[in-house]
Amino acid sequence: MSAFRTLDDADVAGKRVLVRVDLNVPMEDGQVSDTTRIDRVLPTIREIADKGGKVILLAHFGRPKGRDDKNSLKQVVPALAHALGRPVTFVEDCIGDDVAKAVTAAKNGDVLLLENTRFHAGDEKNDPDFVRAIAANGDLYVNDAFSAAHRAHASTEGLAHVLPAYAGRTMQAELEALSAGLDNPARPVMAIVGGAKVSTKLDLLGNLVKKVDILVIGGGMANTFLAARGVNVGKSLCEHDLAGTAREIEEKAKAAGCEILLPVDALVAREFKAHPGYRVVPVDGVEADEMILDAGPLSIAEVVLRLGKVKTLVWNGPFGAFELPPFDTATVAVAKAVAKRVAAGELVAVAGGGDTVSAMNHAGVADELTYVSTAGGAFLEWMEGKPLPGVEALRKA
Ligand code: AMP
Repeated sequence: MSAFRTLDDADVAGKRVLVRVDLNVPMEDGQVSDTTRIDRVLPTIREIADKGGKVILLAHFGRPKGRDDKNSLKQVVPALAHALGRPVTFVEDCIGDDVAKAVTAAKNGDVLLLENTRFHAGDEKNDPDFVRAIAANGDLYVNDAFSAAHRAHASTEGLAHVLPAYAGRTMQAELEALSAGLDNPARPVMAIVGGAKVSTKLDLLGNLVKKVDILVIGGGMANTFLAARGVNVGKSLCEHDLAGTAREIEEKAKAAGCEILLPVDALVAREFKAHPGYRVVPVDGVEADEMILDAGPLSIAEVVLRLGKVKTLVWNGPFGAFELPPFDTATVAVAKAVAKRVAAGELVAVAGGGDTVSAMNHAGVADELTYVSTAGGAFLEWMEGKPLPGVEALRKA
């Protein structure tokens, strides 16, 4: 049984259902250029509509300072209606009489999209008057926007306190996947943390060393750990001022019985570009004018070997500068090994945050992991062990 209230607990027939979704999709030349986020909210919209609820969609778009056409959700309507295969009625505000009229005019099963909630400052301020103004047009509240759940805003958290509140199907899937990843994982558990800098992931590392059995550190962040161990990393991306912090994390890990695995070899180059001249060297063989841009073959082999012995993997951040081949080699090789074990039913693998989704897409495995979260900040805060206000508000008493 879920720890959260879900659509299984809601009686939506004949009800006005305010559904918070993530429609913050990328646009190019006035067109939605990636429909992933739209596709993910379709099951919840369809289910509520098919059960006879009036679906009233709430979402933010961009970072407006007030009302402006550039951030209007109106431009998302054609792509949403197309993906849904049903008409979508747009309302040019998210509160007030126009919304009330449109909701009254709608039939059960109809879908309405309200204008950008962030056109009102009350959304981000979680202003109780604004919460009441939105709630006036709904009987129930469904949150299907995990990616915005780390923010205690009116549309992501406040509404859950004034209306009966439920997790949508996508939110539910995300919560179940994350729970299998860290809250309640099959052991042993491995975490892979890569990406650019230690400074952006201090809380995350601090939380993971308490929860996982093996922490594999890759990417630019590994350079900081290597340097703290006394390795000369040449011109590599490295936060030398965080050497003390890196040593503290190593000590915390030791105390918690978590093994930290760093690269033993690397691909190094003198230029930060695709296909430069490069060498494969042990990590203590980096010349003063060289940069570590990816983990080397021995490091990959070690991670793949260890992967064969764990039951759960949580992954954030690439092993190298994966946008510049051949420095995508380690990320792609490990991602493929992960996908193979998931396909064999031997591993639960959850990945997400920042560039991780594009790294998994690049490796061609985004659909082959147990779950790839498209949430950025919310996924990272979950990895940091922080309660997410929008999720907590849906927890069963
Ligand atoms: P993050 O957003 O922290 O996950 O960082 C992702 C970025 O880290 C990607 O753009 C990678 O190119 C970059 N990155 C990973 N490894 C390295 C490295 N060894 N040197 C420079 N950049 C790296």
